[in-house]
Amino acid sequence: MDGKALVVRTVEEKREQIVSLSDRVFEFAEIGFREFKTAALYKEVLEQEGFSVTMGIAGMPTAFTASYGEGKPVIGLLAEYDALPELSQEGGCTVRKPAAGDNPDGHGCGHNLLGAGTFAAALAMKAYLMENPGKGTVILFGCPSEEKGNGKTIMAREGIFADVDAALTWHPDCVNEVITYSTLANVSVFFRFKGVTSHAAAAPEQGRSALDAAELMSVGVNYLREHIIPEARIHYAYRDVGGIAPNVVQGHSCVHYYIRAPKAWQVQEIYKRVVDVAEGAAKMTGTEMTYELYGGLSDYIPNPTVSAVLQEAFEEIGAPAFDAEDFALAKRFLTETSTAEELEAKKVQIRKRFGAEREAEILERPLHTEVAPLAWNGGIEAGSTDVGDASYVMPTAQLTAATSTFGTAAHTWQMAAHGNTEIAHKAMLTAGEAMALAGIRLLERPELLKKAHEEWLAETGGTYDCPIPKEIGPRLTE
Ligand SMILES: [Zn+2]
Repeated sequence: MDGKALVVRTVEEKREQIVSLSDRVFEFAEIGFREFKTAALYKEVLEQEGFSVTMGIAGMPTAFTASYGEGKPVIGLLAEYDALPELSQEGGCTVRKPAAGDNPDGHGCGHNLLGAGTFAAALAMKAYLMENPGKGTVILFGCPSEEKGNGKTIMAREGIFADVDAALTWHPDCVNEVITYSTLANVSVFFRFKGVTSHAAAAPEQGRSALDAAELMSVGVNYLREHIIPEARIHYAYRDVGGIAPNVVQGHSCVHYYIRAPKAWQVQEIYKRVVDVAEGAAKMTGTEMTYELYGGLSDYIPNPTVSAVLQEAFEEIGAPAFDAEDFALAKRFLTETSTAEELEAKKVQIRKRFGAEREAEILERPLHTEVAPLAWNGGIEAGSTDVGDASYVMPTAQLTAATSTFGTAAHTWQMAAHGNTEIAHKAMLTAGEAMALAGIRLLERPELLKKAHEEWLAETGGTYDCPIPKEIGPRLTE
């Protein structure tokens, strides 16, 4: 059977199972590394489907692999399923209303859909491998804690993706497109200062202020900004200011820094200079400084060949087929959940993407009904994701599908509110179909995988310096 027909038929046949998986994970809404019910459900449904599942990989109890088929080539599908704190929201509801029950957390980034759409892709690729035994292997990687725990970074470091020839993934969004932009690499670091307490009036000469050190570090870093690349970002938060009594010289302090830049090596360079500034602050104040790397992410490198295959597959499958009911709900989301100011900002976005002549039409039907053309413009999105680390160890491509109303931002209750609607279900199934068809095309044409590998080698040199050193394990309980 033709690849597309097989993919569409399989996903149609399994629709109920895929949607139910997504909706149950939406209800579980478990945050990073606590996705126990979620991971157990994945294991159950994947084993029922004949996948061989290994749970608890790379030192993370809720990380897993589920494979089907045998031998090379190997196509990897990356699934996420963690929720966000405090974003519990009733699905389909256009006012802020936490879901029933006492779980405060919710799927404000749509990862319930992300995982289940990837599951749909795995089922359709399995159907192909059943018809074409010996053509290769599909592995669904259950990647925990994208939001806070760098799950894929640890998996990449531990060699979990070592056998994969190409990886595909997706993310819920308000547009249908293959992602050609990169994301920023980062590190997250705690700087701690230890001083000497004393009476701030009676014996200040005996004190050494850790709070002064933290403040001087911030001053130094703010001067440093002038002399680093403009694309870099440094942000900080005071985690410990010593105490609350002004008449005590503060004996301890801690500042939490994020350092971001377009490439991982640039982050490492700036990181060293920030450490120098912290050392300088300690020297100026006679305090001691220690620092602790908390986490890190690499920039995302979209693979040109795999992205082109994914684009072709996405166009062949087509955008989600929304109906009048979906458009009506989207219009309500657009008008009822935006302030006048937000609506104006969304109109600007609409004009920018679709042109002023389509503004009225998009406002009336605010769901993306096309697959955007592949556009390589070297763009960088100013966030960070652990898909970046995956892309450093294997040729990787990802798409976004319109699971939400145009202009809906990630990490909001509005995004969570879309999570179990028909809009989201349709886009999730479309994403699964497009990934499956791309995966099949890659299995059918090993020369594309060879080309993808050459591109990946040219871009990375075949080496990966994980931003999280080996001695730092996953932060399972923090
Ligand atoms: Zn996300």
